[in-house]
Amino acid sequence: SFSNLPDAPVDEIFALNHAYVADTDARKVNLGIGVYRTEEDQPWPLSSVRLVEEEMYRQDDPARHEYLAIEGDLTFLDLARDLMFGFSSASSDSENKSKQRIASVQTVSGTGANHVGAAFLAQHFKPKHVWVSTPSWANHQTIWDLQGIERKSYPYFDASTCSFDFNGAITTLESEAAEGDVVLLHACAHNPTGVDPTKEQWKKIAEICQRKRLFPFFDSAYQGFASGSADEDAWAVRYFFNLTSPPMEMCVAQSFSKNFGLYGQRAGAFHLVTNGANPSEAPLVRKNLCHIIRGEYSMGPRYGSSIVKRILGDSALRAQWQDDLTIMSSRIKRMRQALYDELVRLKTPGSWEHVINQIGMFSYTGLTVKQVLELKSEFHIYLLKSGRASISGLTEKNVAYVAQAIDTVVRR
Ligand code: PMP
Repeated sequence: SFSNLPDAPVDEIFALNHAYVADTDARKVNLGIGVYRTEEDQPWPLSSVRLVEEEMYRQDDPARHEYLAIEGDLTFLDLARDLMFGFSSASSDSENKSKQRIASVQTVSGTGANHVGAAFLAQHFKPKHVWVSTPSWANHQTIWDLQGIERKSYPYFDASTCSFDFNGAITTLESEAAEGDVVLLHACAHNPTGVDPTKEQWKKIAEICQRKRLFPFFDSAYQGFASGSADEDAWAVRYFFNLTSPPMEMCVAQSFSKNFGLYGQRAGAFHLVTNGANPSEAPLVRKNLCHIIRGEYSMGPRYGSSIVKRILGDSALRAQWQDDLTIMSSRIKRMRQALYDELVRLKTPGSWEHVINQIGMFSYTGLTVKQVLELKSEFHIYLLKSGRASISGLTEKNVAYVAQAIDTVVRR
């Protein structure tokens, strides 16, 4: 019987979303789950995505529900890799050599990429520890705990300045991380804090990883969504990738949930980068990744990756996707500013600059658990206990209400 099972933790984000949906109060505001919402508080199929869906419907391709290969759609994978690492489609010889360092497989979105990467490394690389930032996306803990790899944490957020705790992070990695340990890094728009290392700070982190032979594991869930530029948001990954003497082994979990608005379609990829010394290594890695995938879920899903493939492979659609990214990232920036302006207007005690300085989908507001719970029970405003607010839940219509509610709970 299963009656003696240990209790399993409930996922805070999905539980909170459930409570929001069940709430019948007309004033309710969802600042919990990380999904993009329009000014009308609606989900938004990207205009580029809609065009492709209409085209797919018109074409009525009888093969559209066929199985993919175990590694996934090869054209999609090439385009996904090129987007991440900045390769052009007409590659030079040196670019082709760089591409050959990488083993790519299609995954069940970003979570699946994190999982397949963790499973592969646990089995074949056998790290003693994985270093995860404090705080981090909560699922990182679950994913690595399920692989039985001991988790260690490095400081990330300096609450007194609401900024990246660079000294804390590098001091810990420098003095405590050991050769062969995995270091989990958010490629951009760190979740939940919204603060990223500067380029100079990234260089130092890379130098430590390279010198101490740590294994960088990049989680890229917001490429193009954070700054509006896919190249800018991939800067850290590309910097690590392009280091020489010696080139580093590393990997990237790539999600298309946010930047293509394909949340439920589970489009993603995992890229393991070899050091390039042995050209037969990447195909061997891919074979082993395929072995894991076949035993777990056979292959990634087809619908979302078909859409991403079509957009990334066509210059006009790609330009339209770029416009879509700008629409989403600029609305979020506008809402940050609107919340900040309201809090300043209300003279809400404390400093709120971090709301406009943080990047990506979230603001790490600095609100306490007590204040978060009061916002929920009295004002029907939902955010995570850590004080993380998904800015996309704000609109011109509700931002004054939210600011007023924050002002009320902060003054108590
Ligand atoms: N990593 C981070 C840091 C995230 O914030 C997310 C999305 N919340 C993911 C990975 C993966 O999301 P998905 O599985 O929907 O691609």
